Amino acid sequence: MTSYWCEHAQLPDKVHRGVRVAVTDGRITEVTPGTQQRDDDVRLRGLVLPGFANAHSHAFHRMLRGRTHGAGGNFWTWRQQMYAVTAQLDPDTSFALARGVFTEMLAAGYTVVGEFHYLHHGPGGQRYANPNAMGEALTAAAEEAGIRLTLLDACYLSGGLSSSGHLPLDEVQTRFSDGSVQAWAERVEALRDTDLLRIGAAAHSVRALTRDQLAELATVVGDRPVHAHVSEQIGENLTTEMVYGASPVEHLADTGLLGQGFTAVHATHLSDIDLELMGRSGASACFCPTTERDLADGIGPGCELAAEGVSLSLGSDQQAVIDPFEEMRGIEMHERLKSHERGRFPTAELLEMGTTAGYASLGWDGGRIAVGALGDLVAVRTDSRRTSGVALSQIIFGATGADVTDVVVGGRRVVSGGVHDLGPVDDVVAESILAVRSST
Ligand SMILES: [Zn+2]
Repeated sequence: MTSYWCEHAQLPDKVHRGVRVAVTDGRITEVTPGTQQRDDDVRLRGLVLPGFANAHSHAFHRMLRGRTHGAGGNFWTWRQQMYAVTAQLDPDTSFALARGVFTEMLAAGYTVVGEFHYLHHGPGGQRYANPNAMGEALTAAAEEAGIRLTLLDACYLSGGLSSSGHLPLDEVQTRFSDGSVQAWAERVEALRDTDLLRIGAAAHSVRALTRDQLAELATVVGDRPVHAHVSEQIGENLTTEMVYGASPVEHLADTGLLGQGFTAVHATHLSDIDLELMGRSGASACFCPTTERDLADGIGPGCELAAEGVSLSLGSDQQAVIDPFEEMRGIEMHERLKSHERGRFPTAELLEMGTTAGYASLGWDGGRIAVGALGDLVAVRTDSRRTSGVALSQIIFGATGADVTDVVVGGRRVVSGGVHDLGPVDDVVAESILAVRSST
């Protein structure tokens, strides 16, 4: 058992003063507000928030930060730049890079990440001796960094969708494909959950699998969390409509994938029918505000989905920004620009998107400081240049990831005073980038 004494803590009802939080075997076993620090309590200064969930991540996209944004183009030209990075990635460089990226996430306050993983095989689609070598590079990196991980292992079988049907895989995409849903399922079957690892599933998108393949996937995913990129781009809606006579959401509903345990990532361009289907099915959605604005995707229907009872989570996606505060603010700020109204989401709902909703989408019961929940905590400075004077209940509008000082995952403190167990965060991240750059 480890006990923490928090100067202030955000409990499910409100911010409390002087809160002892005890964690035993990874879960919170005591929450006592209004108490004095004991000798054996570890003191957490400032405001302690529940750990944040990064529900949609591609760790390797971190290589593109600050290198594509000034170049014009659109999502599809960005994708070509992203594909070029894959040439530098093998199990060793993937591990080195993800170790740094996951460390950066922890230091910013993310305690769990959903890694949407589709770069499975070697150049030309050549299988590695261990067919899960790339996925295991990510799980090993997460373990070393100390972040909770859901590996959303993605099935990716065709090269896209045009008005005349699915396209063959291109040279890069051969690395993503297992050849069939059955082969994907057999490979994923060999991966095992641990205390900090859950094996989830993903359909890359309605572009990357045919209708029959999506339907087959729905029959083999079992009770794993399932994610898919959905309607990020209008072009995807148009081709799906042309080929299948349905929107991507309608199409996913037809195939049996849409439902409880399913998360639609982006869900940017939805019709009224899509919104209703999402609500009725019990599916959730994950928005990635800093990515969606960077890639000029559009502003998703956040309030409309919430009105249908759809749970919303948040993700850093392409890693141009790794900051849970920025994503929580982002969804509200985009709504304001669209609606000309402030306060579209209550602050408590934004916090829920960044915490409990993300945990649930990734198959974990956490993101809240309450007995029984996972022991994941984040301490945030309240005396920095950004946070001095802010109301604690509104800290998500003032703080950034740079204000995070301490991070606890499953009861273990992995970031202390801004320094990660592996060393100074700037150094760990710089080394990880260098490991990829120097490999070519
Ligand atoms: Zn993505």
